[in-house]
Amino acid sequence: MAKGFFQLFAKNMKKSFGPGQYQANGIQVTCIHCQYDRFEQGQAQLNTALATFFNFDFANRSAMILTCHRCGYIHWFGKKVRRID
Ligand SMILES: [Zn+2]
Repeated sequence: MAKGFFQLFAKNMKKSFGPGQYQANGIQVTCIHCQYDRFEQGQAQLNTALATFFNFDFANRSAMILTCHRCGYIHWFGKKVRRID
């Protein structure tokens, strides 16, 4: 019972957090370095104090980051990206 639960949990974890394909503004994201189409998704808080200091208030928020699963190139998005697979 417990074992089955953990196997199911691990399977769902992999599906939710493993590398996937993403769309930004309706366009599928491909790595600009190696053209791979699978990424690890992450989120980064942009440096609020620094952004305010330079008056970059538009940048004063969190960003979506997609890290290429093959070459590791990090792609930054200021808007939400949608996972499609
Ligand atoms: Zn890449």
